[in-house]
Amino acid sequence: MSALPDICDVLIVGAGPAGLSAAKELKLRGVASVQVIEREAEAGGIPRHCLHSPYGMREWGRVMSGPAYARRLVAEAKAAGADIHTATTVTALLPGGVVELSTAEGLRRIAARAVLLAMGARETPRAARLIGGTKPGGVMNTATLQEFAAFSHHRPFRRPVVLGSELVSFSALLTCRSLGIRPVALIEPGARITARAPMAALPPLLGVPLWRNTQVLAIHGQSQVSGITVESGGKTREVACDGVIVTGGFRPENALLRAAGLAVDPGSLGPEIDQFGRLSDPSYFAAGNLLRGIETAGWCGREGRRVARAIAQALAGQLPDPALARSIAPGAGPLAFALPQRLVPGGPAPAFDRLQARLSVPYRGQVSLGGETAHIASRPERRILLKLPET
Ligand SMILES: Cc1cc2nc3c(=O)[nH]c(=O)nc-3n(C[C@H](O)[C@H](O)[C@H](O)COP(=O)(O)OP(=O)(O)OC[C@H]3O[C@@H](n4cnc5c(N)ncnc54)[C@H](O)[C@@H]3O)c2cc1C
Repeated sequence: MSALPDICDVLIVGAGPAGLSAAKELKLRGVASVQVIEREAEAGGIPRHCLHSPYGMREWGRVMSGPAYARRLVAEAKAAGADIHTATTVTALLPGGVVELSTAEGLRRIAARAVLLAMGARETPRAARLIGGTKPGGVMNTATLQEFAAFSHHRPFRRPVVLGSELVSFSALLTCRSLGIRPVALIEPGARITARAPMAALPPLLGVPLWRNTQVLAIHGQSQVSGITVESGGKTREVACDGVIVTGGFRPENALLRAAGLAVDPGSLGPEIDQFGRLSDPSYFAAGNLLRGIETAGWCGREGRRVARAIAQALAGQLPDPALARSIAPGAGPLAFALPQRLVPGGPAPAFDRLQARLSVPYRGQVSLGGETAHIASRPERRILLKLPET
């Protein structure tokens, strides 16, 4: 790894699928100095912690484990000529593409011609979910459970419950199985699971009951979880368990954006972007889960490559003036958000050639956005793609 320079062409914050794919693409497009900053000890992002498949189908047409997938992304970015700096945390984003970093040697500042933000998303912790009771050990999200599986092989519990029914909740079940842990139940407050209906077949196949219409009211225990109180059909009961895996509710890692005064979409909680992935300060671009919570790694990698193309165009002075943007916020209605949030007239082919939207409530009917109308029938947490309005 070469030393961190004081100036570079493109600085990328986050070495997950979005950041690493963008780094490779920028080098292939002839950008001279591409520096990737990663706070963890190794590059690779979430897949590095995720022992199960399927990763790699969209990119390489084969099923890979998360760590194998992460290794390949890192190797390809390095082979293309990107510099990756691990154990280095970006602590502030300053106007015009200047970034502050914390490194083992102390604080640094780097000025980049463009900065790509690819910091990903994280699950909503217990504290933000208003579950009552005590605060014992053994309550964790899927990411922490996966760190146990990937790095220590230590079993933090033997009979936990899994809260939530997003795709990641089923990933938690598979991780439990790899550690020899048998969950007591997978618990969903609603009548239907959040992931697509066929996923409901997985818990019974793994010998785990699926409890729908069930709320967790409280978690009990002193040093370790000893049980939970649940409510279903108006009746409460106690359930013995020794852990709680709190899954899903992904939120973009947006603290740096807010501190920098960059425009944040109140619906997606990610940055507002135009169709080239540019933020309200046009030195900054974004791709991957930072934009809107969770998508697959292949989707995030593709966004990274497409926004990298736009960054190369920006460096060559080919993008239109961002001051000409018009906003296309969805306003009142069933859409929680739609991105890109701004459209600029003219310029090359967009990095985002369709609107990505999600619902705040289950909905079937017409939606209108930016002059385009579409019929949708979907549920929250699912990707909806709509035609990009004319610029
Ligand atoms: C439990 C689980 C299972 C999954 N299973 C699959 C699967 O089987 N198949 C699939 O395709 N997808 C799966 N996914 C989704 C996929 O892993 C993610 O969508 C993908 O990793 C997102 O890529 P990203 O680059 O946007 O973010 P991430 O992979 O989250 O990478 C972001 C990186 O930014 C770094 N970072 C953040 N802030 C800073 C900072 N201030 N300074 C420096 N670095 C910073 C983080 O450390 C991290 O390495 C799964 C996700 C989870 C949580």
